[in-house]
Amino acid sequence: METTENVRILVVEDNFMNKVLVKELLQVHGYGVLEASNGKEAVDMAESHHPDIILMDINLPEMDGMESTHIIKSRESTKDIPVLALTASAMKGDEEKFLKEGFDGYVPKPIQLTVLVGELERCLKKAYS
Ligand code: MN
Repeated sequence: METTENVRILVVEDNFMNKVLVKELLQVHGYGVLEASNGKEAVDMAESHHPDIILMDINLPEMDGMESTHIIKSRESTKDIPVLALTASAMKGDEEKFLKEGFDGYVPKPIQLTVLVGELERCLKKAYS
């Protein structure tokens, strides 16, 4: 995986403006972007499109990001896809909590491009090298 354009990222976010922002940050960086607006859609998209990595908001309608990630990580067909939690709760200890829940990493909101890209690259390297 040498160029970012071959990397497809599933962005799961219910807030329209956040979704547009994250999508543009990623596309400017050369990543391919897929979108979902709730946890159920995320599970379906993970199955049908098998993205290289998932950026998962936690507070989502229909099914939240925790449950969605649990399902993705419990299925043979999707369990190897890295999932990064994307959330405003930036309290101490949260990163550990998310790792315990099965997430591969954590990106706090408001999103900083360097943090986002750093986490993406770390997870992609870990998962695919
Ligand atoms: Mn949300």
